[in-house]
Amino acid sequence: MCGTSSPLTTHIAERIVNPEVTEPVQHIVLDRDGVLNRENPSGGWVTQPDQWVWEEGARSALVLASSAGIKLSIVSNQSCIGRGVATIAAIDAVNQRMVREAEEAGASIERVLICPHAPDDACECRKPAPGLILEAVRESGVSVAHTVMVGDAERDIEAAHRAGITAILVRTGKGRDTEASLAIAGIDVFDDLKAAVQALVAKE
Ligand SMILES: [Mg+2]
Ligand SMILES: [Zn+2]
Repeated sequence: MCGTSSPLTTHIAERIVNPEVTEPVQHIVLDRDGVLNRENPSGGWVTQPDQWVWEEGARSALVLASSAGIKLSIVSNQSCIGRGVATIAAIDAVNQRMVREAEEAGASIERVLICPHAPDDACECRKPAPGLILEAVRESGVSVAHTVMVGDAERDIEAAHRAGITAILVRTGKGRDTEASLAIAGIDVFDDLKAAVQALVAKE
């Protein structure tokens, strides 16, 4: 679920920060809430499968990526577990619904990595730490040069940069607020995941 600290530390040291992407994308690392699904309108976490609502076009974006042979990993902070708000089993059930419905649509999510820790646990996997992304890259077998991260929050962008991969911002979820406040230049911004994946696939 989360990487152990020592191998991750090694990986971090080996990464080149913010490389230019000149290679075709073979692996997309996705944030979950606000990218794939709507954030919980009541403001809390999505802790039950029936709270899952796909963002417009997100599933067809996954299908498009899968059809292009691009591997898909999900990396998600779920501090609701560490805070005692939800169990790992509950969050697994939500993620199982996501994976199953993506699969029914024709997309293949290869892995879902979550950080279950609370903010003061000082783990290496909670974004903006790069641990989850580095683990996804390692497990995928695809190099950082062929991987991009898509997220809606500043911590997604920071985590991607700390992992040494290119970040893409979408305007769904927290994305519009992030776009307004983001002080980092040179990041591609798209209205939603579908527009982002269409651009990535067209680049190939
Ligand atoms: Mg998000
Ligand atoms: Zn963690």
